[in-house]
Amino acid sequence: MLSFRVSLFSLSVLLCQSALTTGIHPLPLGLANWQDNNGGDYFSEVFPTSAGYLIWSRFPIKVYIEQEPTHITNGSALDKRWQSWNRLTRASLENWSLYLPLSVVAEPESSDIEILRKHPPASPTRARAGQTTYCFYNFKDNTLMQKMTIKISPDLAQYSLQSTVEHELGHALGIWGHSDMPSDRMYASQSPAAQFISKRDINTLKKIYQQSTKLGWTVSYSSQDSTKINSLTGSWSEKPKSSSSCFQ
Ligand SMILES: [Zn+2]
Repeated sequence: MLSFRVSLFSLSVLLCQSALTTGIHPLPLGLANWQDNNGGDYFSEVFPTSAGYLIWSRFPIKVYIEQEPTHITNGSALDKRWQSWNRLTRASLENWSLYLPLSVVAEPESSDIEILRKHPPASPTRARAGQTTYCFYNFKDNTLMQKMTIKISPDLAQYSLQSTVEHELGHALGIWGHSDMPSDRMYASQSPAAQFISKRDINTLKKIYQQSTKLGWTVSYSSQDSTKINSLTGSWSEKPKSSSSCFQ
């Protein structure tokens, strides 16, 4: 009987040790300073994941932008397209960085968000303009973190390119859902009415960052659990999911 009690006690300790902390992070300054009480939001359309809302808590968020391959001839049509890609992608980053601190890094391995000039997987009906996927991993200090990958079609015209990158970045920064209004950047389809990141987009982003999440908090676990958690690196308890309804 005594040994039974002891083993029950050990089990409860193990479960406690492997529990994921959940909590609310302090609002980043750009969102804390944002005030717009009349514009409304579409927070009800945003989906929490198994780790909670996709909230960043370590700033600046490090973004890698795919670089032009070195073999491309200077001044060629392809060279110009790459330069345009780089300029418009950076412009999209700057527009979001008014609300969340972002910085460009040179290596994809050290980034939180990768933006790649690559075709997203085609949908059954037609090609996609962009796609964002996430996965979760256990950071070296035992913090549960997300990694986002954005693929942007190389075939997009300039206008579509910037609006697509801005839209996909909205997903990567935490808006895991779509607006029902064509004037919002996070409307599900490309819309001429969506010229900018809207007040409703930022109202929604701010509301997301006021929610509880498991991301950015310590995963404490015993030595028995370490193998289990490490084996989930890259896809925390589920396959990476994509915003598959984007721009279809
Ligand atoms: Zn989308």
